[in-house]
Parts: sequence; C-alpha cells; structure tokens
Amino acid sequence: MPRLELSGPLEQRLAELYARMEEAYDKVARALDFGCTGCPDNCCDSYFQHHTYAEWLYLHHGLRQLAVAKQQEITERATEYLRRCAKAEAQGLRPQVMCPLNEEGLCILYKHRLLVCRTHGVPAKMRRPDGRVLNFPGCFRCQQLVDGKREQGLEIPVMPRTALLMELVDIENELLCFRRHLYPKVNLTIAEMIVRGEPALF
Ligand code: SF4
Ligand code: SF4
Repeated sequence: MPRLELSGPLEQRLAELYARMEEAYDKVARALDFGCTGCPDNCCDSYFQHHTYAEWLYLHHGLRQLAVAKQQEITERATEYLRRCAKAEAQGLRPQVMCPLNEEGLCILYKHRLLVCRTHGVPAKMRRPDGRVLNFPGCFRCQQLVDGKREQGLEIPVMPRTALLMELVDIENELLCFRRHLYPKVNLTIAEMIVRGEPALF
C-alpha cells in the first residue's frame, strides 16, 4: 500500500508551526511565572487522542532517527500501553498510563512531540469554525497560580490557539491534496500511532 509523504517544505512548515506554538506557550508561561519544574504530577500519563496525518507522520520522522533497538523497545512499550488502556476501558475507567515515549520523566522525542503535548498547561483560548469560543483553564497547578493572580486583580495572559490550529489544518489539507474528506478521520493515541506504523494511502 503506498505511503503518505510529508515532503521537505511541508515538514519544515510543521516544524515552524511547532516553534510558534512553543513561543506562544512560553510567553504565557513567563508572564505567569509558571513551569513544570517541581510538579508532583507528570502529564505524559494523560489520555489524549491526536487528529492529523501530518503529526502522525512527523512523529514517525522522529522515531526513524532513533536506533533500531530503541524503536523496537518503544513499540513494545506502546503495545503494553494499549493493553493497559484496553483493560482500564473494559472496567469503565479513563486510562492513565505513561506515554511510551516518556523515559525517566522526560520525553525522548521532545522535538517531535505533538500539538497537545505543546499546548497543555497554560490557559488558552480558541475560536471554532462555528464561531464558538472555547476557553481552556490550564493544568491544575497553573489554575492555582491564576487564582492567586486574580485575587490580586492582575490580568491573566492567555495563549491564543486559533491561528495555530488553522495553520495545522492548512498543512493537513495540503498533505492530503485538499481531499481531506476522502480519508478516514484520525483519532489515535500516540501509542496507536506508533504501533500502526506510518499512515498509508487508502
Ligand atoms: S503541565 Fe501542569 S500538571 Fe502537567 S507537569 Fe506541568 S505543571 Fe504539572
Ligand atoms: S510525546 Fe512526549 S511530551 Fe507528549 S505525552 Fe509522550 S512523552 Fe509526553
């Protein structure tokens, strides 16, 4: 089956978009004096799905740069991740399993991590295509910080996500030759993306 290709220029666009996300995130984090250092939690065990072929491919570009033995180890961890998630879901629970890319608390594919990994933490705002505005309060630790600042009457900075997400949609459209509607929707965890391998054309 032919494979989808994230070409050089498109890959570069995604890398630049990720850099802009990081910049926008850091700006808000700095203004709030917020960071993950010292947090008793690690958000890499949160259960999230991801929704683009572009990010799926970019993740695999990162994986391919690792030694083969490390790739195999990650695939084994991803398989175990899926087994544990299925078990939790069969018990009616939301899975909470450490991401197969996390080693000793750190992301081993930091440069290739996905949008959700890059935006979770600080307060954010997004306008949906139907005009509805969604507000994200940030993680529990950031919310505590925000509450303290509100009590002092300080302005709360918010990360604007709309333009960033629209650019990701544009990249996805170009990757799929503006025929996105013909492809199955992506709704996969990172572990599923790893175990399935790179996405193929149908
Ligand atoms: S995003 Fe928030 S909850 Fe998650 S590790 Fe960072 S400080 Fe902790
Ligand atoms: S890809 Fe990296 S940052 Fe994202 S959940 Fe996995 S380990 Fe954490």
